Amino acid sequence: MTISISSDFECGNIEVLGVEGDSARLAIRKDSNGPWSQWFNFAVRGAAGRTLTLRIVNAGATSYPKGWEGYRARVSEGGAWRLAETAFDGTALVITHTPQGDEARFAYFAPYELTRHEALLARIAATPGVTRRVLGQSLDGRDIVCLDMGEGPKSLWILGRQHPGETMASWWMEGALARLADAADPLSLRLRQRARLHIVPLVNIDGAARGNLRANAAGTDLNRQWRAPSAATAPEVLAILSAMEETGVDVFLDVHGDEELPHVFIDGCDVDPESSAAQVAGVDRFRQALLKASPAFQTAVGYPPSYGGAEANGIATRAIGLKFGAVAMTLEMPFKDALETPDAAAGWSPDASAQLGRDCLEALIAALDESA
Ligand code: ZN
Repeated sequence: MTISISSDFECGNIEVLGVEGDSARLAIRKDSNGPWSQWFNFAVRGAAGRTLTLRIVNAGATSYPKGWEGYRARVSEGGAWRLAETAFDGTALVITHTPQGDEARFAYFAPYELTRHEALLARIAATPGVTRRVLGQSLDGRDIVCLDMGEGPKSLWILGRQHPGETMASWWMEGALARLADAADPLSLRLRQRARLHIVPLVNIDGAARGNLRANAAGTDLNRQWRAPSAATAPEVLAILSAMEETGVDVFLDVHGDEELPHVFIDGCDVDPESSAAQVAGVDRFRQALLKASPAFQTAVGYPPSYGGAEANGIATRAIGLKFGAVAMTLEMPFKDALETPDAAAGWSPDASAQLGRDCLEALIAALDESA
């Protein structure tokens, strides 16, 4: 009997080129209508007790080949996601693993399905003082959902998963939203007293369903569209930006994952030469507060000021910083392990992402504090 491999499920991504015994030749498929690739997510069945050799032959030709250096694939047999033995030779990524049970799931990072997303929205929206609002529709006709809470004078916006393959952003949201919805948490109460919060946990919902790394259904990288979003190719951004125009934006946090750097870091609007002294100070308060709140966060390694190149003015953090004068930041978590808080069994994980989500509330209140 040979093993069978499938990615025929929500957020799935793999092409099976050939299976022989316990070995398979696989390829990551490109985003729908877009040039990017890196996300994979597939199931292997008939695998109990067999040492699988899973060879992703086009890894060297994906969007971030350096992302495979020092990287280990994630595997789950129904429970927690753990690290699998992984090697990269510059061309192929080879995952070796011996499942105990019949079925094992392998992915670039712990997936976060739409059913879990929907359950999260329902859970948080059912707590006192939280409103669930539909800002618009994606190209595939899905709702772009925003959770609103808090009564304060400031406006705080948080976005997750503009890039659908960066599923750590969804795990981050679970941690942050659970804390924000906890009426017994004094920090959350303070935050909700000082600001009106607008949180869109899953911006690129079509890309998530399709198993894309970066693109939406039209093949657009949404985090390059914030200067002038098109209804035809980026209605998700247009819907959020329209809602922002009604509320204004004092503080903005955009939650992402980075393929290459083994660190948690932020990229702030403070690198923009046009940013004000108040914006620079606000980003710095966020940084200093997060350094205290989270052992995973660091400031030594991050993007250079030139990040984004000619497209930088379409990045949400830059565009929203400029348009609204907001204290705007992109938060990046690693696909590799975080060198500041290494975890030999799980690497950077859903639990680590959720903990960072809880810890970031300390930094958000610091960013808000003096932005009057
Ligand atoms: Zn991203």
